[in-house]
Order: sequence, then C-alpha cells, then structure tokens
Amino acid sequence: MRIILFGPPGVGKGTQAKLLSATLHVPHISTGDMLREAAAARTELGIKAKQVMDAGQLVSDNIMVGIIRDVLTSKKASNGFILDGFPRTLPQAEALTVLFNELNLKLDAVICMEIDDEEVVKRLSSRRTCRACGTIYNLVTDTLRDSTKCPSCGGDLYRRDDDNPETIRARLKVYASSTAPLKDYYARMGMLRPVEASGSIEQIQGAIVVFLNRR
Ligand code: AMP
Repeated sequence: MRIILFGPPGVGKGTQAKLLSATLHVPHISTGDMLREAAAARTELGIKAKQVMDAGQLVSDNIMVGIIRDVLTSKKASNGFILDGFPRTLPQAEALTVLFNELNLKLDAVICMEIDDEEVVKRLSSRRTCRACGTIYNLVTDTLRDSTKCPSCGGDLYRRDDDNPETIRARLKVYASSTAPLKDYYARMGMLRPVEASGSIEQIQGAIVVFLNRR
C-alpha cells in the first residue's frame, strides 16, 4: 500500500497514519517528525528547519524532495508506506509523481482529511506528544490524570513549539494557499478520497479503511 494522507494542520493525520501503519504493516513516514528529529539532533538542516517550522512556514521544496527521495529509495519503504505531511505544495506533488514513475511505483490512494479552522486551533492548542513513544494526546478529550506524563509509557508529554495560536493561524494560511490546491491535482488523477475528520479517532479510521477497501 502506498498512501498519502493530507489535510490541514491538527486534522489528525499523525494519529491516523500511526494506526494505519500498524494495521497495514507499512511504515509511517512523517516529514514533520523527520524535521523535528533533525532539529533535536541539532544537525545543520535541523537548526535551519526549526526556524522555519516555528514561524509556521514551509521548508523549501528542494530540501523536502531530497529527503523524500532518500526515504522512498531506502529499504524501509520497499513494501509500501503512508506519507504524512508530504507533499505540501504543487511542485512537491509533481516531483513525487516523477519519483513514482522513475521507481515504477503505484500510488494507491490520497486521503484528504477535512476539518474547520476553529476546530484546528482548539485541537492544536491542547495537543501533547510523548517524547518517548510519540503517542499524541488531546488534553480536552483524553482526560489524562497527569497532563505531563504519557499514560501508556510514562514518558514526558510536551507541546510542540509550533502549536501556539499565532503559529497555528500562520500554518492554516500556508495550508490554504500552498497545500489545499493539491486537492485538484489529485482529484484530476482520480486519486482523491475526502474524509470528514471531526468524528472520533475510531470513526475516522473506519471511514479511511472503507475507502481503502473500495479501491
Ligand atoms: P507537521 O508535523 O506535518 O505538521 O509539520 C511540521 C512543520 O514541518 C510544518 O509546519 C513545516 O514547517 C515543516 N514541514 C513538514 N513537512 C513539510 C513539507 N513536505 N514541506 C515543507 N515543510 C514541511
């Protein structure tokens, strides 16, 4: 299975991608996670990317396409993958199509998760991630006993630096101008599968699986 999951920030792509990755036994490839790992490791790319991410802007297409080329040609991706956070611009989508053709790969589906902007701001302001296992929680809906510790592994929970209201609004603007046009691109290819993402995690996962089974 080769799937692209896309949608505005905070729509729940990471959560759904992790679940799908476990169900379908294919790796979850998140460009945001890769950039955050590079930032934590303080590599040259990571330090530059962190500034861009903290401003809610996009890292350049050249860099992102290079990163994705490396991953998709690696052994890790040889049996399929779920792409989360890539492509995010039309040039990235076009470069990905070229790469698929070059590697003789077939894209199975592009799942587009849809949600209101106000809901995004609410969700992201209360999002917390476990530093140890990567599980994502929401302080409003997940009623954790201790909002600083992961209930599943005991790791520290943190709020992403770009999950503050000002940066969230900047990210939404960037999504509307640079990423939303990808809907037309993939609709023209007959690949787009829209999924309403305001329900529970289980309902949304169910809707995605229905689409994948109908292919
Ligand atoms: P995410 O975790 O997917 O929300 O990504 C966090 C941030 O990483 C984004 O706001 C961008 O600054 C950067 N980023 C991740 N993926 C891409 C991409 N494909 N193109 C450009 N920037 C990206």
